[in-house]
Amino acid sequence: MVDPASVSGWDDTADVVIAGLGLAGAATAIHAIDTDPGLDVLVLEKLDEAHSGGNSRVSGQTMFLPRNAAKAFSYQRQLNATNPVPDEWLRIWAEDMTQLEPWVRGMAAEAGFQFHMTWADDPAPLFRVCEYPEMQDSDAVEFIGTLSDQPGVVLTPSSLWETFRRCLANRRVRREFGQRVVGLVQDPASGEVLGVRVCDASGTVRNLRARRGVVLATGGYENDDSMLRSYVGLNDAVPLGSPGNTGDGVRMLQRAGAEMRNFTQHGTLAGGVWPAIRAPGQPTAFMRQLFWSAWSWIDIAQDSTRFIDESADYRAMHYKVRKHGVWQDTEYSRAGAMHMVFDDATRRAQKLVVDLMTWSALVGDYRWSDDNTAELANGLIVSAGSIRELAVRIGRDPDALEATVSRYNRMARDGSDADFGRPADRMRPIESGPFHALRVLPGVICTAGGAVRDAQSRVISTTGAPIPRLYSVGELGSIQTGLYQLGGYLTECMVSGRAAARSLVAAPPLA
Ligand SMILES: Cc1cc2nc3c(=O)[nH]c(=O)nc-3n(C[C@H](O)[C@H](O)[C@H](O)COP(=O)(O)OP(=O)(O)OC[C@H]3O[C@@H](n4cnc5c(N)ncnc54)[C@H](O)[C@@H]3O)c2cc1C
Repeated sequence: MVDPASVSGWDDTADVVIAGLGLAGAATAIHAIDTDPGLDVLVLEKLDEAHSGGNSRVSGQTMFLPRNAAKAFSYQRQLNATNPVPDEWLRIWAEDMTQLEPWVRGMAAEAGFQFHMTWADDPAPLFRVCEYPEMQDSDAVEFIGTLSDQPGVVLTPSSLWETFRRCLANRRVRREFGQRVVGLVQDPASGEVLGVRVCDASGTVRNLRARRGVVLATGGYENDDSMLRSYVGLNDAVPLGSPGNTGDGVRMLQRAGAEMRNFTQHGTLAGGVWPAIRAPGQPTAFMRQLFWSAWSWIDIAQDSTRFIDESADYRAMHYKVRKHGVWQDTEYSRAGAMHMVFDDATRRAQKLVVDLMTWSALVGDYRWSDDNTAELANGLIVSAGSIRELAVRIGRDPDALEATVSRYNRMARDGSDADFGRPADRMRPIESGPFHALRVLPGVICTAGGAVRDAQSRVISTTGAPIPRLYSVGELGSIQTGLYQLGGYLTECMVSGRAAARSLVAAPPLA
């Protein structure tokens, strides 16, 4: 917290100051200015313009757009069962969710994108539309919304983000890049937030006054190792989204006296922990391929044993499995650093990473080669003529690795995985040398922890009262507190952003 007594003068003033330019920040700014065109709205983004957009830009771009508020309330309530949010707030969120579809359609039309709906009975859906069909009122998820700017394609990368980026640029909203919000200027007695302290790359610090309020839209803490260890219990984890998300908002909320929630998530990380690969020198990671055409590969844990049916479609459930009647993260969340071991048939068959999403694939400056040959050449993929030699090259016990691969190969030839039940048609022996290994790490999509916020996106303090003029939106303090329905995060960015905008428009300005 920055004590106003330490602020000798304001360097600038706006009605609304928004920290962070991802979808939540953009949605807040657009709805605020569209509701009250007279407002002076200032968005501050920590990264430069070319690297703005946050996780929103590199996400899967899918939206959960329910049309029935009662069913949406009921379904989301069950998703949140392990860590409930108050019903009275959830009802308002659910109602707001049903208002989104026409708004998104309007934005898409303005930005030159087509709106698409994927239904559960589409012949070849790209994803599972409803993730938890066994839940009551799961038909709240009638379809998943996506956008595209290419004929015949239902989803193009970054399309939702690009829609909002263009719509924001069409409006009279001030945007400043390379500006990191480092503190909230807050009255020590009342807790009222009066503005922010911001710092640019050269170290210049400014104090900016916010007449109506400050909105924290700074995303999660996927890039902060210490927070990932402390809050999510993940070692060696790598981010799949923006490198700008370092938990700044969490720290500012803590200093502001906010009531924090939703860090450990009762054993699951709502967005899931995904196998990921970090290229040399890169801050973020690629997501490993999800749609396999070759099956001569396994994953091995730190003791060089297999630990899971590697072929199962965990993607469809955001890397959750149901065990003993309880949904939980797959073993990938606890395996730590592991290796994928494969033969040259798998190496030749397809690209080993996903193209459609992740910062590394869409924005980062390392381009993964289509045939994986560049990764062979630069040593990211470690190769050897035998499994024993491969083990030595990756620092593992040759006897242990050879035993694991031999056992797997035997079971693949027999067509029966006695250990993990991997289906016969997804098991091919690892026999076509050279043999390869790729280091695979737990990849984090998003973190969700933050402050308790109400249905008006007001941040709630440890006393239970809203902190005056402070709002949080999007992933920072998300209501995805348990299980996650595909599209729910991006939907929440828009719902919470629109709610914050309404609150700000209604707030009496500071004198
Ligand atoms: C690979 C991947 C796939 C995903 N797929 C989906 C999907 O299909 N559907 C779905 O609903 N969700 C999906 N998600 C989750 C979703 O993308 C995020 O929850 C959502 O984009 C968060 O949006 P946000 O606006 O809150 O934060 P972000 O979009 O992450 O934006 C935060 C911004 O704040 C900036 N910032 C941080 N600190 C500061 C500071 N101190 N000052 C100023 N700026 C700051 C950051 O640089 C960043 O630009 C996916 C995420 C990933 C990574």
